Amino acid sequence: MANGPLPSPVVAALAMTVLVSCSSSPSPASERKVLLERVDDTAIAQLWADGFAQLTPRDRALCYHLAQAAIAGRDIFLDQRFAYALEIRDVLEELFVHAAALEPAAAAELARYTKLFWVHGGIHHNLSTRKLPFHLSLDGFLAAAARARQDGAKLPDDARLRVLFDVMTNERTFESVTSKATDDGADPVRDSANNLYVGVTSADLERFEERHPLNSRVVKQADGTLVEEVYRMGDPSSGIPPGRYATEIARIVGHLRDALAVAPPATKIALEKLIRFYATGDFADWHAYGVAWVADTRSVVDNVNGFVEVYLDARGRKGAWEAVVSFVDVARTAAIERLAQQAQWFENRMPWDEEFKKPNVRGITARAISVVTETGDSGPITPIGINLPNEEDIRQQHGSKSVNLSNVVEAYAAISGATSVEEFGFDDAEKARARRWQGIDDVHTNLHEVVGHASGKVRKEVIDPARILGTYYSTLEEARADLVGLYWIADPKLVELGLVASEDAALAQYEQFTRNVLVQLRRVPRGGRIEEDHMRNRQLIVHWLIANTDAVTVVRRDGKTWYRVPDVARFRAGCGKLLAEVMRIKATGDFKAGKALVEGYGVKVDPTLHGEVLARLERLGLPSVTGFVMPELLPIRDASGAVVDAEIRHGMDLADQMLRWSGRR
Ligand SMILES: [Zn+2]
Repeated sequence: MANGPLPSPVVAALAMTVLVSCSSSPSPASERKVLLERVDDTAIAQLWADGFAQLTPRDRALCYHLAQAAIAGRDIFLDQRFAYALEIRDVLEELFVHAAALEPAAAAELARYTKLFWVHGGIHHNLSTRKLPFHLSLDGFLAAAARARQDGAKLPDDARLRVLFDVMTNERTFESVTSKATDDGADPVRDSANNLYVGVTSADLERFEERHPLNSRVVKQADGTLVEEVYRMGDPSSGIPPGRYATEIARIVGHLRDALAVAPPATKIALEKLIRFYATGDFADWHAYGVAWVADTRSVVDNVNGFVEVYLDARGRKGAWEAVVSFVDVARTAAIERLAQQAQWFENRMPWDEEFKKPNVRGITARAISVVTETGDSGPITPIGINLPNEEDIRQQHGSKSVNLSNVVEAYAAISGATSVEEFGFDDAEKARARRWQGIDDVHTNLHEVVGHASGKVRKEVIDPARILGTYYSTLEEARADLVGLYWIADPKLVELGLVASEDAALAQYEQFTRNVLVQLRRVPRGGRIEEDHMRNRQLIVHWLIANTDAVTVVRRDGKTWYRVPDVARFRAGCGKLLAEVMRIKATGDFKAGKALVEGYGVKVDPTLHGEVLARLERLGLPSVTGFVMPELLPIRDASGAVVDAEIRHGMDLADQMLRWSGRR
């Protein structure tokens, strides 16, 4: 399963569940460029992989080989998504390379469309699944091709270009890449424009059993019979013939074999099983790989590579190819561990009744990871969290890995956070503070996860507070963890631990938390109630503070509303008071009080305020999708030519990366 890709405010909400820390980035997030460019509703951004330089040379070399394997397979996904995609990409990239020879307006429109094509992985929008708009006429398109040919471009003839132009622009063909509609005679398999089924209907499939449901294409022959084309490299020595994508898969396997030489033992075992699967295409081999991958929990570098998520298939059976290369961020993980070691210190000083303090508390630790390269179904548009494998029996018997892509989350926060601060920050001082302490939310998130959820003791007779508090439990528990974070982030202990620099940083966190209560209303439909637990808990905290303390003041100016934090001490005191009450509710199973808190402060939205906030956010035009330029890894070879290390570069140029990956540069 993958979380996202999601619109930015959703990501900001989910960031609360991600373990990341602000400390020890080589260059502060505020000083470097994340958002590179905006194309229509799509943002193009640079993904930064801090900490790569701190890996061992061997792990860096491993990342290099795995990244090469990721790049080698990316065309599989494009072809799975749409049968014309690679042919159209060749035309677009050839025109892009010869842009200087084109009429400027045509060159600009082709550049806009080509960038969207690269980010969305074809001519269909990643979220809407509909065709991307193309604003060149057929004549303009052919004229651009003619000029590019004179400049040396290699393009198909005009007859073929007319066909491709029609594919790109005709609103009545290939409408949706994944169409899930079933009403009025609609058929998801027939109506989806992806390349997982050719000429096949849902009814055809009812009478057909696939041998390789996850990794095959089903094609209807002229005589009406169905043929299953398995995706595999083949293995002549075992008499297994090559299948669809054999060329691309062989290239992937070549890089995976190179990786074996530098992989730690557990990773090596998993990669060998993956190579076996790519050769045979058999599910049993895929399953064996999944078991080995789950067992590899201690390695610094991790890798997803294969036909994994099934969202592209309206039937939910066929895996779209993807690759994710990542490493554990040592500095971030160390910051998490530093907090976890202090869990008892915090517990002993929690602002709640002694009765509810744990004598032996253990902080909850998790690994923070950074993505180096994502391709296929995972890049340039990336999820923010991945939980694999999808095979339920492996999850039950062998476990699963849940990773949060912390550098992706950080990038999303930088893109959307900066924009909403400009509108919802009350004055220049608050906006400057937000810029100065961009990473502070990560510290709060760590406190929330590591200290917050682990803390507190319930009365013996309560046993399971979730059962007693029922539907209100999750909201209250999230509020409790958030309040622990808010309460401690302003404590000198955090400065002593080197996690927070100053009271100024704590104020920035309080202001961000409070602002977010307005900004997150973007996710609530007009006239609706708040349903999601994290959103409810934030509303609960801030609205309780407004109603019962002087920690937050409401300011109205020029028809707009601001929530302001007057000072750190009052906000912290208010949070301590509410925290003691939420802890008491959990520890004693006080359903009535819990319900009153959630229903009274966390669920309802003032329709006037909601309308105002939606109007303000609409004017900001936050992007709906972000495509990332991935870091580039450059090999360092020894005298024999073997890769012994790798360097990282952040190129900040989508076109350059895409053109080099497709061999045009
Ligand atoms: Zn939580």
